Amino acid sequence: MGDFYEMFFEDAVAVAPVLDIALTSRDKGVDDPVPMAGVPYHAIGGYLRTLVERGFKVAICEQLESPEDAKRRKGPGAKIVRRDVVRVVTPGALLDEEHLRGEEPNYLAAVVADGEMPGPCSLACYDLSTSDFVVVRATEAHVARAELCRLLPKEILAEPAVHAWLRQAMAVEQPRLEPLGAPSAATVARVRELAREGGAGALEDATVRAAAAVLAYAEATQPGQTLLVHRLRRHDPAAHLVLDETSLRNLEVFRTHRDGARRGSLLWALDATRTAMGARLLRAWLGAPVRDRKLIAARHDAIGALVGEPKVRAKLQSQLRDVRDVIRLTARARLGTATPRELGALRGSLVAVPELQRTLADLKKRRTDRMLPEAIELGDDLLADVRDDLAALLVDEPPAGTREGGMIRDGADGPLDEQRRLAAGGREALAAIETRERERTLIPTLKVQHNRVFGYYLEVSRGHLSKVPPDWVRKQTIAGGERFVTEELAEHEARVLSANERALLREQELFAALRSRVSAQAERLVTLGEHIAGIDVLAGLADIAQAHDYVRPEISDEPVLQIEGGRHPVVERMLEIGRFVPNDMVIAAGAGGQIARLWVITGPNMGGKSTVIRQAALITILAHAGSWVPAKRAVVGLCDRVFTRVGAADDLGRGESTFMVEMRETAQILERASARSLVLLDEVGRGTSTFDGLSLAWAIVEHLHDQIGCRTLFATHYHELCALEGVLPGVKNVHVAVHEDRGRIVFLHQLAPGPAGRSYGIAVGRLAGLPGRVLRRATRILERLEADPTGTARPQLELFAPSASGVQHSGTGPATATDPLAAALAVALAGLDLDGMSPRDAHGWLLDWAERLRR
Ligand code: ATP
Repeated sequence: MGDFYEMFFEDAVAVAPVLDIALTSRDKGVDDPVPMAGVPYHAIGGYLRTLVERGFKVAICEQLESPEDAKRRKGPGAKIVRRDVVRVVTPGALLDEEHLRGEEPNYLAAVVADGEMPGPCSLACYDLSTSDFVVVRATEAHVARAELCRLLPKEILAEPAVHAWLRQAMAVEQPRLEPLGAPSAATVARVRELAREGGAGALEDATVRAAAAVLAYAEATQPGQTLLVHRLRRHDPAAHLVLDETSLRNLEVFRTHRDGARRGSLLWALDATRTAMGARLLRAWLGAPVRDRKLIAARHDAIGALVGEPKVRAKLQSQLRDVRDVIRLTARARLGTATPRELGALRGSLVAVPELQRTLADLKKRRTDRMLPEAIELGDDLLADVRDDLAALLVDEPPAGTREGGMIRDGADGPLDEQRRLAAGGREALAAIETRERERTLIPTLKVQHNRVFGYYLEVSRGHLSKVPPDWVRKQTIAGGERFVTEELAEHEARVLSANERALLREQELFAALRSRVSAQAERLVTLGEHIAGIDVLAGLADIAQAHDYVRPEISDEPVLQIEGGRHPVVERMLEIGRFVPNDMVIAAGAGGQIARLWVITGPNMGGKSTVIRQAALITILAHAGSWVPAKRAVVGLCDRVFTRVGAADDLGRGESTFMVEMRETAQILERASARSLVLLDEVGRGTSTFDGLSLAWAIVEHLHDQIGCRTLFATHYHELCALEGVLPGVKNVHVAVHEDRGRIVFLHQLAPGPAGRSYGIAVGRLAGLPGRVLRRATRILERLEADPTGTARPQLELFAPSASGVQHSGTGPATATDPLAAALAVALAGLDLDGMSPRDAHGWLLDWAERLRR
């Protein structure tokens, strides 16, 4: 209403405190006034954001005609300005730059289950702000969960029965949940058509339903608009390296574990993109690395081409800075919400494109094969026509809105120029009147002025009032004098005003037509935007590769992981240059190979176990995503999934005991891992008593080794597990080395073969500042524990004899302390599957143990 968006009745009552605005009423005098609260139209953005963040859905209703038009209208409802809902704002239907994060997608999703959840289901995710539309068929619920945690939809449509599953599956993200609507037959048909066009193939019924529900809901938020669907594509989880929610979190792919910050994540370390489109694409690549060797090689090639040409790359990147978010600007043009300034930004981007093209041509010339790697082609369509159209019409610095006009250039349109001339002529005539009247009346200070209430008037100061001629009409008395109007002034005023008004209408008309012409080219614009995004990502990755000395990984079909001089891409950046200690690693899951498939990594706390196993996973992910990797050399065998299980201390509470979570996560790994997977286990079995934990860890290692046979890195403080080397052919012990000097330790962060000598827990406790008394006592206990080399059970009582402080210990209970090797033997013996062994195997086993015990 006027310059305000007003809310009435319970809306006003509910929203006023949330927005901290005054609650007033419409007709104050009456008995039962209507509550009302409003916000100025130009500040709507911030208020909308607050409302959406607080869980409201906002319908925006606008005047569809001017009050004058309404007055002119006859018949029922005449005089009441026509209004209607022009858009509905929900978390999944955000369009404005101020609401969206440039580097993140903003998906609206639907989940349609075949039966009960957890079970097979289909997902559809559509981003109104980019027109990206992706469907996923999940054969199991955990696949759906992994996809949802990667795509992070802001709003999900689903049957009420699925809501419960979603609430649990996305506990951390908490998207808004809405019921699943029943889409019309027309929408269903449109989805099938889009799928065919987009190459998504024949969709399953549940997938069609999900996609149609999303489309219908999205369209309902934009009444009267046809949404652009650039391409309905199918994402096949089996064609990707799947990172589930646990791995995304533990490996800090998008954000850090501790504070959820982007800084410190893998994405942060690899992001040298210059455009928002590139930043979003990089995020998509890291979240869904691919298993297609050709595609990976294409990206690696492109990075190679750009790494070799630092000057060209620098130029390319500086030109990319001039490119704005073409994809999102196009979507806004499509929906009729793009402002003149935004179309100006689009023009600026299109102007930068030929320069980009020239730089790429330059690169091409410098290459021996005179070819550009496909991934950094800009394509043939640079949209010069759209650029020229925008350039011809828009002024150099277009305004933020269309209300006041001023967006169309002089000379661009005949009728507009004509109105502008008339308005200007009127203004000149007014100036002429001023001069003439000043001369006639001899009032030296006489001025023609303008305000909104009277329009044009003549102002005369008190001292000259006697000279005012009789044909002037007095309008107002002010402090210093009086204001007059004349018939002539009024005439010219009408002419200026109507010329101005017509000019404004013409400008708005021209602008709307321009916007719809741009909108008609949306497909082409988005395609160009995608090309630019790809180039941006690859140039950024090349930048990082060169700045931080990355190498192109070799991709292998064999299930190997061989890294020479590998580094952790994030940790190395947090340290001073040169302080990070590179490490080698080689594991291979192949049958009968000489190379171990499972490393048991021991060493002191703070030694670098977690870092080294994570760096192996991150190098694997980067290689699949198409990036180069922080190493001297790397051979990365194609992987289907990366699994991580990280120690209790690192866990978020989730309404389950940490040990329960630990076991559940481990169970999932054992259930889902294949021989093609990479499994990282950091401290398994620590959340329970030593023997329970050790036994579980032992059995888990055996299972991974024997049954799954995948590449596995197992960091542990259970030195007993080192006894598995030699027992299981694919197990190898390594440790992170430390240097010890009179009870003080220096971490070398260097991997070395064999088990760690000891745990150094007490030395780390000293570093951490435990009181001296506690440290001395702990040292004594440890000495006694270690004093019995044969390692057979011995009574607790002796061990817990009164300490130096004189505190009595009751020391009852059956627990015993044992030698690590004996413990290992006990566990191995207890776990022996005698019935499944041949006499020969049993003999071998015995010999092996006898040998070890004699050593
Ligand atoms: P814990 O057993 O307590 O979990 P950890 O052995 O897993 O310890 P990390 O967390 O991997 O140890 O490493 C501890 C710190 O040591 C890291 O935060 C990092 O600062 C440093 N560090 C680890 N690896 C290296 C390395 N290769 N070069 C230099 N510094 C390293």
